[in-house]
Amino acid sequence: HADQAMYLAKQSGRDRIYFFDAQSEHLMRHRTHTLERLEQALALGELQLYYQPKVDMLQGRVIGLEALIRWHDSMQGRLVLPGEFIPLVEGSHFEIVLSEWVVRQALCQLSEWHRMGLDLSLSVNIPAPHLRSPGFVDFIRLEMAVYPQLPPRALELEILETAALGDLDAVIQKMMHCMDFGVSFSIDDFGTGYASLSYLRRLPASIIKIDQVFIRDMLHDPEDLSIVQGVIGLALAFHKAVLAEGVETIAHGRKLLDMGCSLAQGFGIARPMPAAEVPGWIRNFKGFPEESSQQ
Ligand code: C2E
Ligand code: MG
Ligand code: MG
Ligand code: MG
Repeated sequence: HADQAMYLAKQSGRDRIYFFDAQSEHLMRHRTHTLERLEQALALGELQLYYQPKVDMLQGRVIGLEALIRWHDSMQGRLVLPGEFIPLVEGSHFEIVLSEWVVRQALCQLSEWHRMGLDLSLSVNIPAPHLRSPGFVDFIRLEMAVYPQLPPRALELEILETAALGDLDAVIQKMMHCMDFGVSFSIDDFGTGYASLSYLRRLPASIIKIDQVFIRDMLHDPEDLSIVQGVIGLALAFHKAVLAEGVETIAHGRKLLDMGCSLAQGFGIARPMPAAEVPGWIRNFKGFPEESSQQ
């Protein structure tokens, strides 16, 4: 139960003494139970990837999609979002198993789209322990080898800005190896971690994704707007592309374009959807933020 204790320690905060009380015991049981049910869910085919488009607002073009996991929980009879179970999976034996499944599933779907003539890129969220695990590079190499017809940069891996903390050189090496197989990287939730700028500059990622918390309030909160503007400038200086997450309205899109950020993802453009809906959505995409676009 080492990872259980670790999980509880993380939940209760580093500076606090941990008491094994009734509430923690409840938390632990809930976690064990959920992990067991998730493993069953994987075997039963209850886990599914949804896909959220990413667009270039300037070119009026779909640049790719992000794979986002969903759980059709048959016991509860509802769709469970990752916010409810990914935190429970973190640090468990199941974390890498699940992440490998996500990568395989995403590549399979990506190759199907390419067979249909849709030249898309697809990004997958990779938890730091998976990236840092000894088998990661070989895993990616072998999975990419299954689809030799995929063009370079069709698969993108999203990592958090803190993923390489404490082990920067080794992680950079791994990223470079993966890049040799045509994989590219982006930094997810940028601005919410605690990474220094000199460290970030060294990460060989091609896209910085500005976290949605800054985008959400930027039209009313001058400080959030400064952060967004700052990250856009930083990306330019580091020769990286920049993408805004959480673009919910046309006004957000316009403001971002004014500031020089043309890549965007958000409910205002499209919600995450099942794979079957993607080709139709792409056919109907009329650009954003145009009034003529389907809102
Ligand atoms: P993320 O990677 O930052 O993904 C973006 C999240 O923001 C998604 O939530 C997406 O549905 C949501 N989102 C997109 N546009 C908007 C918007 O305009 N407004 C708002 N309010 N939200 C928006 P989701 O799918 O619930 O995923 C939450 C997080 O769970 C993800 O954050 C990611 O960290 C994690 N996650 C999702 N799928 C996977 C996966 O396959 N593997 C791993 N390891 N983590 C995953
Ligand atoms: Mg992501
Ligand atoms: Mg994000
Ligand atoms: Mg996130």
